[in-house]
Amino acid sequence: MTEYVHVSGALDGVLHFASPASPTDYLDLPIQTLKVGSLGTHKVLGLSKAKRARFLLASTSEVYGDPLVHPQPESYWGNVNPIGPRGVYDEAKRFSEALTMAYQRAHGVDTRIVRIFNTFGPRMRPGDGRVVSNFIVQALRGEPLTVYGDGSQTRSFCFVSDEVEGIYRLFQSEITQPINIGNPAEFRVGELAELVLELTGSTSEIRHLPLPEDDPKTRQPDIALARELLGWEPETSLREGLVRTIEYFRRLQAEKRLGSATVLTG
Ligand code: UDP
Repeated sequence: MTEYVHVSGALDGVLHFASPASPTDYLDLPIQTLKVGSLGTHKVLGLSKAKRARFLLASTSEVYGDPLVHPQPESYWGNVNPIGPRGVYDEAKRFSEALTMAYQRAHGVDTRIVRIFNTFGPRMRPGDGRVVSNFIVQALRGEPLTVYGDGSQTRSFCFVSDEVEGIYRLFQSEITQPINIGNPAEFRVGELAELVLELTGSTSEIRHLPLPEDDPKTRQPDIALARELLGWEPETSLREGLVRTIEYFRRLQAEKRLGSATVLTG
């Protein structure tokens, strides 16, 4: 989609989710990540303009970088290292937001921007590399859970059906400013590892590996705007969501389709 996108016939909406989004993926595909978030966003905005279609950009909490404001409201401009390894994803998404706003202002394209925070649930790839799938796969295989750093860094995990509902409501709304969609319940990565061990009944040990460069120390969405403007808030707790995700990965294991976690080695 970094080339011209041709669609014949009318289009009501364009939802731009194309991009690697797991750190293991975008660290492996730095140039492709930058291209899809710049050239690709340009092409699909052009498509939306030509078709007079509503456009939704899947943006990210990574636009806040390693945040100095906590929790993060949409009005926070962020703390991103443009030349660090994560910059390829963060800056591509920040550029995508800028281009989306420019198409709205200059060409009158009907745009929406959702800032998606950590999301998890059934149908994640076992080798996705993100923390929830890694810990569950490792626990079910009886392998050590790989906690990067001392595990004191925090994330706020949203169950996938809550995330989808929030994005759907935003798409249907008339709100053109960026909106955070995520679950504000915040956990330390070390706590998540303990919870996965408890819920799987696994006896795996915890292994500490180096913290990746520029790994954000905290992350929690301020969802006041989503509550007020969309009447949305998440309903599924981390514990309930994990139970359902573990069930899914157990089924893969029973079908011998579990595969391995993907671990960053430093
Ligand atoms: N993490 C971890 N072990 C893993 C994978 C990730 O400790 O096997 C940590 C990672 O360093 C980060 C957090 O878990 O602090 C969330 O990482 P993830 O890759 O899921 O997404 P991010 O929020 O960093 O984009």
